[in-house]
Amino acid sequence: MIKQEHIKQLCVVPGKKFHLKDFDTGWAQIEEFKQYDKEALKDHANSLLEQNLLDLTSEQQLLYADDRYSLLIIFQAMDAAGKDGTIKHVMSGVNPQGCQVFSFKRPSDEEINHNFLWRYMKCLPERGRIGIFNRSYYEDVLVVKVHPELLKNLPDSKKNTVFWEDRYEDINTFEHHLVRNGTVVLKFFLNVSKEEQKKRFMERLLRPEKNWKFSASDLSERERWSDYMHAYEEAIRATNTEWAPWYIVPADNKWVTRALVADIITSTLRRLELKLPKLSETQLKILEEARKILENE
Ligand code: ATP
Ligand code: MG
Repeated sequence: MIKQEHIKQLCVVPGKKFHLKDFDTGWAQIEEFKQYDKEALKDHANSLLEQNLLDLTSEQQLLYADDRYSLLIIFQAMDAAGKDGTIKHVMSGVNPQGCQVFSFKRPSDEEINHNFLWRYMKCLPERGRIGIFNRSYYEDVLVVKVHPELLKNLPDSKKNTVFWEDRYEDINTFEHHLVRNGTVVLKFFLNVSKEEQKKRFMERLLRPEKNWKFSASDLSERERWSDYMHAYEEAIRATNTEWAPWYIVPADNKWVTRALVADIITSTLRRLELKLPKLSETQLKILEEARKILENE
């Protein structure tokens, strides 16, 4: 496990001015990782990930048996920051029956014809389950803020100067509602640098088996990089609440991202002190009787 004080370096401090440039995209920011060179870091991060995956498997079983909490994990990032790979690796030891992943793309006509939280509400995890959002309602204050033309279906009177503040408030209230009802909300921003994104795009273009991952819009969105960074900063600043905090995870090294995300998920579940349900005297009697019946068959 990574020390809590080191994980705290990834948190946005409530009330403090938040700037993405204060967060390293590599690993230099994480005290625990500083002592390693690149190769040794990879080994260390991988062994941390391995241990956390074992712990996560047992914590998930307890979450399911305990059946009081659910866990919602949100991944937001620029293209090619590694959302898919992180989800694949971190959740590899998890029982698929207790976990669901939803990837949110451009909304359909039906979705656009509802309030902006509608399509996400339908996908929230049941008690005892883990729900993963690969992109989320944050897109509605990120890509939509960078491309306000996407808002065309709203009445003009609603597109006023406090429109975005209202949306942040809606998100905070929505998340507060979830937390008050037993959902733990974890939000990860995978913080990749513009240089690393270029490398990953080049790889997608040069390696035939990766070609399918590249889409034409990737370059046009990259051109709006600083608008996106600005939108992310404003959204994270406004929605970093004590009940649903943001983690800014360095994403230029995939193994560092995965080790950190796995560690945060596992330690969050551990803090819930989940327990196997305690059986009542009557339930124990029923079990005892069932055992006797089977023994005498
Ligand atoms: P990859 O990292 O593999 O490219 P992805 O999550 O980017 O995966 P894509 O199919 O490439 O998946 O892109 C999904 C697109 O849908 C993104 O550009 C995203 O901004 C857009 N999108 C998601 N939610 C919304 C929304 N509410 N309104 C408008 N666009 C959205
Ligand atoms: Mg994409």
